[in-house]
Amino acid sequence: MLPGQPEPVPLPGNAAVDAAIIGEGFADLAAARRLRQIDPALPVAELAASRLAEGASGRNSGFMTDLPHELTSDDYSGHGDDRAMIALNRHAIAFAQAADDDYGINRNFFDPVGKINGAASPTADALNRSCAQHLSGLGEANEFLDAQAMTTATGSRHYLSGGYTPGTVMLQAAGFIRGFGEGLRASGVGIWENTPVIAFARSSTG
Ligand SMILES: Cc1cc2nc3c(=O)[nH]c(=O)nc-3n(C[C@H](O)[C@H](O)[C@H](O)COP(=O)(O)OP(=O)(O)OC[C@H]3O[C@@H](n4cnc5c(N)ncnc54)[C@H](O)[C@@H]3O)c2cc1C
Repeated sequence: MLPGQPEPVPLPGNAAVDAAIIGEGFADLAAARRLRQIDPALPVAELAASRLAEGASGRNSGFMTDLPHELTSDDYSGHGDDRAMIALNRHAIAFAQAADDDYGINRNFFDPVGKINGAASPTADALNRSCAQHLSGLGEANEFLDAQAMTTATGSRHYLSGGYTPGTVMLQAAGFIRGFGEGLRASGVGIWENTPVIAFARSSTG
């Protein structure tokens, strides 16, 4: 869905940097941004095995959620008091939002629109109800949509219910990762693509 990228620029030769980050995923790009926030002049390089956005971070479903999404719990909502995790998630979303603003990433690639968890079976409907109770118990905003409300929202009679939560950002993940990498590059971070790290050698300059 995105236009092609310019030709990749691999690491052209030896480079001396204070921080070399291996990879081009969310964690790697966020680390580079954070290091440059702490020291705007710090020499930083990202060594990316492939192209920007060709890994998991650029090819996922794009749900950047603030609420627990715990697949091992009965209703995805977690195992108890998730307030610390929710706070951490919101901190991360704010970090991503600030990067989006600073790097001028296309607004359509970072859309704070919330999400609806649709249930198409009685089991899933029960999970939606249980999740809504859990969230309300935590004081978290959520809205339970019945079958009629889901038909109105989706145009389909497929769903028995839906759980709307407002804090999810929908990413166009590849566009967001590309924009993040381009923003870092424009700020002086070396983004070297097609540059897999194949070995480490420890050395000391004394
Ligand atoms: C199909 C799918 C859907 C998903 N949907 C969601 C979702 O909706 N919401 C959500 O929050 N999460 C989702 N995820 C999970 C999410 O994509 C990952 O948790 C996230 O991308 C992990 O980011 P990361 O930076 O830790 O690792 P990665 O994105 O995997 O980045 C690591 C990078 O390191 C590079 N690398 C590895 N070894 C080397 C090396 N030796 N030299 C150089 N580079 C190297 C790789 O090329 C890779 O790009 C989904 C995952 C998949 C696969």
